[in-house]
Amino acid sequence: MPLEYSMTSKQIPKIDHIYLDKNAAMSPLAKRILQTLRGIPVTIVKDKDTFLRDVGKTPLTAGKKKLWLTNFKGVFLNPCPATGTDYLCCRYRTLNAQTHCPLDCTYCILQNYLNVPLITIYVNIGSIPKEIDALIKSQPRRLFRMGTGELTDSLALDRLTRLNEGLIRHVLRKKMILEIKTKTVAIDHLPKIPKSNVLVSWSLNPDAFIRTEEHKAASFEARLKAARRVLKKGYRLGFHFDPLLLLPGWKEQYTELLEKLTSTVPEKEVMWISLGSLRYPPSLKKIIEGRFQKTGITTAEFVRGLDGKMRYFRPERVRLYRHIYTGIRKRWKNVFIYFCMENKPVWQNVTGYAPENNHHLDYLFHENIARRFPDLKLPAAELYRYTGQGT
Ligand code: SF4
Repeated sequence: MPLEYSMTSKQIPKIDHIYLDKNAAMSPLAKRILQTLRGIPVTIVKDKDTFLRDVGKTPLTAGKKKLWLTNFKGVFLNPCPATGTDYLCCRYRTLNAQTHCPLDCTYCILQNYLNVPLITIYVNIGSIPKEIDALIKSQPRRLFRMGTGELTDSLALDRLTRLNEGLIRHVLRKKMILEIKTKTVAIDHLPKIPKSNVLVSWSLNPDAFIRTEEHKAASFEARLKAARRVLKKGYRLGFHFDPLLLLPGWKEQYTELLEKLTSTVPEKEVMWISLGSLRYPPSLKKIIEGRFQKTGITTAEFVRGLDGKMRYFRPERVRLYRHIYTGIRKRWKNVFIYFCMENKPVWQNVTGYAPENNHHLDYLFHENIARRFPDLKLPAAELYRYTGQGT
C-alpha cells in the first residue's frame, strides 16, 4: 500500500491534553494555541517543579499527544551543539522554540536527550527577532545559517504556532540564511515570498525505510511534491541524507531515490545537501528496541566514536557516502554537499578533499552560496576571518 501520510497543514497534530504553565497563560501565542485547540482538556500548572518531576515518567508515545506550554528562560538562538573535536561542524545556529514533535522516528535522539517527554512549546518568543538582529550585528561580514529543526520538526507544529511565518518575514533579505527543516508536507500555510534567503529542506530516505523507521512522516514522493510546491512560493531548497541507513537493499533504494530527486528538482534552487549516517548514544539502543519492535536499525555492526556515539564502521560509512555522493554528482555538479559531523579522513575518502577545520567549512558554505545565488548580493567570503571568535 502506498504511504499516504500524514499531516497536511490543514490538519493539526492529534493532541489529547494541554498543560499550561500559569506564568505563560497571558502570552498571545499560548492564547492562540488554546483557541485553535479549544475543546481539548487543559490543566493549569501552578507548581512547575513538581509538574516537571512527575511528567518525566510519561511514556514517550503518550507524551507525543500532550502539549506543554511554558516560558523559556535563556536564549533561543545558539550554536549547534557539535559532537566533539574529531568531527567537523559547520557552525550552524539553531533556534529552539519547541522540543519534540508528533512524528515518531525510531532513531530520534530526543527520546534519550530531553527530560520532558511532552511536546513543549515555548510561548515567550518575543525576544527572537532581537536575538537574530544581535547575532547578525555581532559579526557583520559573516553569513550565519540558522534553522528551527534541531529539537523538533520545523513544520509539524507550525500550523499551530506559526513560528516560521514570523521568522521568515523578519529575516527576509537580511544577511543570513534561514532553514526550515521537515519530514512533513505541512507547507500550505507558509507565505509566498520573493526568492531570497529562506529555504525549506527535507530529510530524505526511501519509502521502504520511512515505513519502518520514520513513523507518521510523509512519503518520499510526497516530500518531493511538497518541495516543488514551495519552490513556486519563492523558497529555495535543501536536502538532508541524514541519517543514511544501512538496511537491506540500501544501494538499490538510494539509487532509485537519487534518480528521482535529481530529475524532479532543479539543482540551481538547491542551496545545500548534507550527508550523515546513523549515530546514536549507546543508551538510546534500549529505548529504540523497547519502543519499536519492527525496527532494523540496531542490528548492524557499530563502533563507538570519539564522541561516545555509536556509528557504522568507517569503511561502511565511506561506502555508503560514496554511493550517495557520486549519485548526486552524476547529475548535479555544483550543489554544495557537506557531511554532518564526520571526520577529515571520511571527507577526504569520499570527496577528495577535506576542510581544514570548522571555520574553513563555514567559509566554504559562504563561498558557495555567494557564487551560486548572486541575487543575495553577499560580499565575498573571507577565510578564517572569524577564527578565534568562538562558534
Ligand atoms: S522528525 Fe525529527 S524530532 Fe521528530 S521524531 Fe523524527 S527525528 Fe525526532
